[in-house]
Amino acid sequence: MTESILIIGGGIAGINCALNASKYGIQVYLVDDTPSIGGMMARLDKTFPTNDCSICIEAPLMYEVNHQPNVEILTNTEVRRVKKGNGLFKVRLVKRARFVDEEKCTGCRACVDACPVSLPDQMDGKIGGMRKLISIAFPQAVPNAVYINPDCRFGKLRQKGACVGGCVVDCSQCRECPIALCVAACKKEGKDAVRLWQSNKNIDIEVKSIVVATGIQDAPVPSALYGYGLYDNVITNTQFERLMNAGGPTAGQIIRPSDQKHAHRIAWVQCAGRGLANGLPYCSKVCCMIATKQTIITKEHDASVETTIFYNDLKAYGKGFWGFYQKAIEKGVRYVKARPYDVFEDPITKDLTIRYEDLMTGELKKEEVELLVLSTGLIPSDRNQSLAKVLNLELDHLGFFKEKDPLFAPLETNVEGIYLCGGATGPIDISESVVQASAASMKAVLTKEVS
Ligand SMILES: Cc1cc2nc3c(=O)[nH]c(=O)nc-3n(C[C@H](O)[C@H](O)[C@H](O)COP(=O)(O)OP(=O)(O)OC[C@H]3O[C@@H](n4cnc5c(N)ncnc54)[C@H](O)[C@@H]3O)c2cc1C
Repeated sequence: MTESILIIGGGIAGINCALNASKYGIQVYLVDDTPSIGGMMARLDKTFPTNDCSICIEAPLMYEVNHQPNVEILTNTEVRRVKKGNGLFKVRLVKRARFVDEEKCTGCRACVDACPVSLPDQMDGKIGGMRKLISIAFPQAVPNAVYINPDCRFGKLRQKGACVGGCVVDCSQCRECPIALCVAACKKEGKDAVRLWQSNKNIDIEVKSIVVATGIQDAPVPSALYGYGLYDNVITNTQFERLMNAGGPTAGQIIRPSDQKHAHRIAWVQCAGRGLANGLPYCSKVCCMIATKQTIITKEHDASVETTIFYNDLKAYGKGFWGFYQKAIEKGVRYVKARPYDVFEDPITKDLTIRYEDLMTGELKKEEVELLVLSTGLIPSDRNQSLAKVLNLELDHLGFFKEKDPLFAPLETNVEGIYLCGGATGPIDISESVVQASAASMKAVLTKEVS
């Protein structure tokens, strides 16, 4: 096998790109800088417009790509340097230590059970999700291996009760740890996979083309917007997605962060922060359908829950999207064309009052809800800046990768042999990401020598 390609980003776009390219017999390197492939889709509950279970669709693809003999998956891995030479890209990758031997770990989680410290999960923290210092990214993770929070080692989390907290020796200096509970639990299972002394590893590869599939992130909420950060029961649409997910921190119970009680009146505010100085200046395209999906699923959980979407302009641009919106209306979802201007909390009940301008009548109105969901939009990966520098690519003014020509070369870049797909190009849904991934994979496979 002499020809190779590199795909950066292991979300649904990167996975599909790798699967397509691998069918042409070339070597594929699929790199993600987090501990598992899967991207955002792995954290979703269901997917519009079909409402299929998200992980049930993605996990088989993750499994398939992991079992392709000509695909090498490198997680926890960054692209550090890229140079052109002899018609190829010479790439230096850095595989960051996960402090666990991926080959030996079977994902049994005995170490996770033994770990005494849980910290709020980065994504699920606000709705009660906790993560041990040694953990697995999510149950279907690929690779099915745990990883260790680097701060756990060498006493950095002493205050939080980390079991190696009292040790005076730097973990990188030891080969036998007598105190770490995860080490003992792993050995008790007859394995020896924990490697607290593991260090980063450089990997050099040569590829004829590169596909950037670094995806999207959910936008942060501008400070105190609609009471977010002040009031417990104001959450984002990503947090709501995790709340209704059977694999999420509440096992799919749609309960309020303040009192863990089921919410019976829930509202969504669309375009939250859009147009504000510290909000997004653009439409993220998918939020209207995300809110529509979330109301439908909420009604499927409990038809008596009152669901209201405060929106500006309804974006139902894709195939089946208008029918999806109609389905929500049939289920009793209320769409109110409105501009909410503030929210305040009842300090006793923790219910929320939203004051808004009804855009159909011009009247100022208010409504009380038990849970408020902010649709904040999608932003580029926060690693795009540094990756663009390494790849010598341009970003657009929003931070997404700039295409060579938005009309005629939307997946090509200013560097010959480097292509784009999925959320790396801008806010996007899953089906469009998959279409782009197929196209980008063909371009990558067909690339001859780059000059
Ligand atoms: C709350 C919410 C609900 C949604 N619901 C739906 C829905 O129901 N239906 C639908 O069609 N769409 C939905 N979407 C949109 C959907 O998530 C995206 O369309 C999809 O995730 C895009 O896939 P992707 O592979 O391009 O990006 P991602 O899923 O973001 O994957 C990108 C991957 O690249 C990795 N990466 C990033 N930067 C680097 C780097 N520098 N080096 C290495 N790796 C990197 C990331 O770790 C990640 O694994 C939703 C989005 C949100 C936020």
